[in-house]
Amino acid sequence: MTVHLIPPVSSLGLHGPDAEPLTEGPRYVRTARMTRWHRVRSGVRYGTGRTVYSLWCTGSVADDQFLSREELPEGDLVCGPCDGRAVGAGQEPAGPPGRTLAFRPRDLAPPTICPGSRSERLTQAIPPGTVGRCLACEDLHPIRAMGGPYNPRAAIVQHAPGRLVDPCPFHRWKYLQPSADGGLACSCGRVLRAPDQSAAA
Ligand SMILES: [Zn+2]
Ligand SMILES: [Zn+2]
Ligand SMILES: [Zn+2]
Repeated sequence: MTVHLIPPVSSLGLHGPDAEPLTEGPRYVRTARMTRWHRVRSGVRYGTGRTVYSLWCTGSVADDQFLSREELPEGDLVCGPCDGRAVGAGQEPAGPPGRTLAFRPRDLAPPTICPGSRSERLTQAIPPGTVGRCLACEDLHPIRAMGGPYNPRAAIVQHAPGRLVDPCPFHRWKYLQPSADGGLACSCGRVLRAPDQSAAA
């Protein structure tokens, strides 16, 4: 278990609060049916005890139904898409000699437009209501009336993120929502900022 894994980003929303993202995993994996070794991008341990590793090239291996190796014998085949992405994303300290591989996984970088922008739910109005605090990044920005006559709302204007809350390991900043007690959560149920950490508390 020596390779650092990236967060198991998913847009499917299938990961409940009992799913635990894994930060380390095996370097090379293959099942009996695979024709070459693949590389692990991310891992999740579910509340049921099931562990699933996602591969860089799509696909996955689960539980103990695969082989894993730290080093491979000369001549063993390694999946090119997996290896290039793993190295390019920084999973290995050293890549192939003579060139620097680059690969930026989708959805990992913070958004350039704050997810609290124009969101009524993520706007915390500060009396008298012309300025609001963004629940996603805690910046203060003007509140404007927006939406049409059929869905009017008052929300904070579009802005670049300030100090963004640490993201959900599965859904990043996509599904932020205020929790009932004044904190911030992901729609999957993970608490991202407890109420007492809020600058507005
Ligand atoms: Zn692969
Ligand atoms: Zn913001
Ligand atoms: Zn989530």
